[in-house]
Amino acid sequence: MSELSVRELWAQTADVVGTRHEARWLCEVAVGATGDEFILVLDEPVTERMVAHLDAMLARLRTGEPLQYVLGRWGFRRLDLLIDRRVLIPRPETELVAGVAIELAAARPTTRTVADLGTGSGAIGLALADELPLEGTTVWITDVSEAALAVARANLAGIGRAATNVRVGVGSWFEALPADQHFDVIVSNPPYVAEGSPELDDSVAAWEPAEALLAGVDGLDDICELVAGASERLRPGGWLVLEIGADQGDVVRRLFDDHDFVDVEIRHDLAGRDRVALGRRPGEPQPSHP
Ligand code: SAM
Ligand code: GLN
Repeated sequence: MSELSVRELWAQTADVVGTRHEARWLCEVAVGATGDEFILVLDEPVTERMVAHLDAMLARLRTGEPLQYVLGRWGFRRLDLLIDRRVLIPRPETELVAGVAIELAAARPTTRTVADLGTGSGAIGLALADELPLEGTTVWITDVSEAALAVARANLAGIGRAATNVRVGVGSWFEALPADQHFDVIVSNPPYVAEGSPELDDSVAAWEPAEALLAGVDGLDDICELVAGASERLRPGGWLVLEIGADQGDVVRRLFDDHDFVDVEIRHDLAGRDRVALGRRPGEPQPSHP
C-alpha cells in the first residue's frame, strides 16, 4: 500500500468538499494538528486512524450536518470554541455584538462587571473575559439550558487565566444572576426568530437547537423580557447591548425608548442589516472601587 502524506490527504479532501480551507480544517481535526503544527506534518504519512476519522466526518457532512458541528469547534474572535449540537453555532455577526460590549465595558475605569445572558457556547461572555483587562473584570455567563452551560464550562476551562474572572449562572434571563448584583454592561444574543419564519435557513432549523432561536410569533418575546428587566440590573449609566433580527430595528428602538433608555442606537452588520441594539440607563456611573 502506497503511503499517503498529510498533504495528499488535504488535496484529496479538497476535491471532495470543494474548498481548500474547509478541507484543511477537516484534516487538522483528523490529523490532530493545527496552525503551524499542521504545516510541519504535511509530508508525514497519515495513519489509518486519521483516515477513518476523516471518513467519519465526511459521512456526517454528507447528511447535511453543519461543518462547525462536524469539526466540533469554531473560531469566535480570538477564541477557538468547542461546539456541538447542544449550542448554537457562533455567528460572525455576533462577533460584532461582542465587540460593542467589549468597547463599552473597557471604557469603565478600574473595575467592570458584565453579564452575557443566554451564553450558549460561551462565545460572547468568554470573548469579554478574554479581551477585557485581567484586573478588575468580572463576567457572568448564564443560560436556561444546562446542556448549553456544560459546553460553556468546557470552553471556560480553555481560556486561560481570564477564567478566574468568570462566574456561571443557571436560570431564565435575570433569574440566573445574584439579586444584589448590578452591571456596567448586560449583553445578550437572545432567540429572536419568529415561529414559522420563512427567514430561518433550512439547515439551521434542522440542526441547531430550536430553544436558542425561536421567540414567539413575532420573535420578540425574549427581547421584550430583556429590555423590560435590564434597567433594574444595570448600574446608573450602564449599557444594554442586544443582538436583534434584521427587521427588528424600529420596534426594538421603540422598546428601548419606552423603557427610558437613553443614547439608543441600532447598528448594522457588515451586510447593512439591523443587528445590534444598544441603550444606556440614565444617570452617571459611580466611580468604581478597585
Ligand atoms: N450567546 C450564544 C451566541 O451568541 O452564540 C448563544 C445565543 S442563542 C441565539 C440563545 C441562547 O439563549 C441559547 O443558548 C438558549 O439556550 C438561551 N436561552 C433561551 N431562552 C432563555 C432564557 N429564558 N433564559 C436564559 N437563556 C435562554
Ligand atoms: N442569526 C440566527 C439565524 O437566523 C438567529 C440567532 C438568534 O435567534 N439569536 O440563523
